[in-house]
Amino acid sequence: MANQYKITKKGQYRAKDFDPADTGKFKDRQEAETAMEKNLVRINELQQKLYADGKEGVVFLFQAMDAAGKDGTIRAVLSCLSPQGVTESSFKVPSSTELAHDYLWRIANCLPEKGQIAIFNRSHYEDVLVGKVHKLYENYKWADRIDRDKIIDYRYEDIRNWETYLYHNSIRMVKIFLNVSKEEQAERFLSRLQEEKKNWKFGASDMKEREYWDEYQKAFEDAVNETATSECPWYVVPADHKWYMRWLVSQIIVDTLEEMDPKWPEVDEEDKAEFKQYEEQLIEIVGQSNVKEKKVKDKNIDEKIKDKKNKKTKKEKK
Ligand code: AMP
Ligand code: MG
Repeated sequence: MANQYKITKKGQYRAKDFDPADTGKFKDRQEAETAMEKNLVRINELQQKLYADGKEGVVFLFQAMDAAGKDGTIRAVLSCLSPQGVTESSFKVPSSTELAHDYLWRIANCLPEKGQIAIFNRSHYEDVLVGKVHKLYENYKWADRIDRDKIIDYRYEDIRNWETYLYHNSIRMVKIFLNVSKEEQAERFLSRLQEEKKNWKFGASDMKEREYWDEYQKAFEDAVNETATSECPWYVVPADHKWYMRWLVSQIIVDTLEEMDPKWPEVDEEDKAEFKQYEEQLIEIVGQSNVKEKKVKDKNIDEKIKDKKNKKTKKEKK
């Protein structure tokens, strides 16, 4: 269902063909919210399996213009995940320590273990978005041999290679662009100013960045096209209707986890035989205590316990 928003190769993403106000198959918010609830339950089940299986990790990274709804969407998704199997990292303006390293260093530090889900609020893509729009790399230190004019192209290449390397090492990267329209952004900024509780979300720099709207759209288009692969796809998610955006993100996560297809770890024959012995021992223990029979769900075990208890009472009567 999320496939129409999935970009897997160069040239597939043209901004003008993707309507930020799209609401797909849904007639209204209610329908989407009901579908979303179902997805959150499914994600929770799949996460448990992924964790138990422990063979593959996955990153869901979020990029967007200001006020597209990144934080709220991430909060909604996290609400269904078990904390032991998920990490969240947000990437801000790099610190001096971060700038003293290669730009992927701080990102690599936040990668998930196999069996884990990592949520990235911004990512290495900032270096080909804000970094490209404002040519931030011109203020950084570079070895003399580096051609500054090629830095953005080098980065696309680095990102493609690095994400492929991770894929070959059992970590997937799924990249989600929350695509809000310029008009909707203005409305959301206004409500941040008019509603006191939202004031903290607004910064003067948000208005300044808005002036570079077209440059950012072009940077997104380039970044998506240069780095989308079938293994590490981009999804361009319409973000003008939050209820649709949130459902679609939940659907992307369900689709990805289902494709990963985690399995409950299998118990080998030797362990099974051993478990059988423990089971017998436990039946003995449970049968002798005052544990209520209804607590034991398995019918066979239930029968065995009754059997033991009957024998015991007969013995006692004798
Ligand atoms: P926020 O997510 O609203 O707290 O803002 C974080 C800010 O950090 C945004 O303005 C990002 O563009 C900025 N940022 C994140 N990563 C980088 C980066 N690699 N280079 C420059 N700015 C960045
Ligand atoms: Mg912000």
